[in-house]
Amino acid sequence: MVSAQEGEGRKVSRALEGKLALITGASRGIGAAISQNLASKGANLILNYTSESSAQKTKDLSKSLEGEHGVQCLIIQADMGSPEGPVSIITKAKEQYGDAFKLDILINNAGVSRNLSIANCTIEDFNWQYQINVLGPLLLMQACLPYLPHDRSGRIVNISSVSSSEGFPLQSVYGGTKAALEAMTRTWARELSERATVNAVNPGPVKTDMWGGTSEEFQGYLRPFIQKTPGSKIRKDIDDKDLVDDEERAGGRPAYVGEIAGVVGMLCTPDALWTTGQVVCANGGMRMAI
Ligand code: NAP
Repeated sequence: MVSAQEGEGRKVSRALEGKLALITGASRGIGAAISQNLASKGANLILNYTSESSAQKTKDLSKSLEGEHGVQCLIIQADMGSPEGPVSIITKAKEQYGDAFKLDILINNAGVSRNLSIANCTIEDFNWQYQINVLGPLLLMQACLPYLPHDRSGRIVNISSVSSSEGFPLQSVYGGTKAALEAMTRTWARELSERATVNAVNPGPVKTDMWGGTSEEFQGYLRPFIQKTPGSKIRKDIDDKDLVDDEERAGGRPAYVGEIAGVVGMLCTPDALWTTGQVVCANGGMRMAI
């Protein structure tokens, strides 16, 4: 990709020109928006997804990012919740890139949630959420180790949630998975200090399939939290009509995917070198750390 030209022959290089980024769960929602953001900064991408129903969507995304931003995309289908899935992503990437394979950026975004009361939690459900949200990122991190940079230029971002810390009803399991991911974030920041920065971001509700699939009961529990979130106040002339119409019931608006991707993209730039081991706000101020 040729860098953009500006003014009288002055070359403007994009912040992530020539870097390689792996995004899990890139087919839709927050992962697709992160892919868009990193591609706009010049990064080549490995796009992971798992469901057959997302195959075409991921191909379309890849094609549009390659066309719009002149980057290269490699699509890898793998289940982040299986013991072999995370390793298979790296094996396939290595087959594609050969000995030159080096991974600059890892975004652990793929995740699932199921909201259940204490009485309704099951071992099967616990294992499902923890395998995809916690064990998958750990196994992927392991598989990536030989391929990370050795000059602190690497960037790892784990997509957590305010659920890790707000104690929302029905989230004994999901909240725990995200707290575990944040704990691993801090450990990885120390273990990988010579290789990469490692941070988490913690969205509140985001306008995706995941939030759309939550129950009226759960959304009712979150209403007072949304009402107190500075960024969630509806702007009638700016916000999507469905969110404006839903203001009274919801208490405000969820985030747009681009609002999460923007924070993740910022953490992936060289400017963010001095930020590591953090849980960075990507929730419009729903959670204010003190
Ligand atoms: P989403 O719209 O439901 O999309 C989930 C993505 O994860 C899809 O790309 C899906 O791939 C992928 N995925 C799910 N299970 C997978 C598996 N076993 N292996 C590989 N990929 C898998 O979710 P989202 O709202 O964008 O959420 C993305 C991340 O943000 C998650 O970690 C979530 O916990 C977190 N988050 C979301 C919210 C929210 O309100 N939406 C709030 C806080 C945090 P397929 O398309 O192939 O199924």
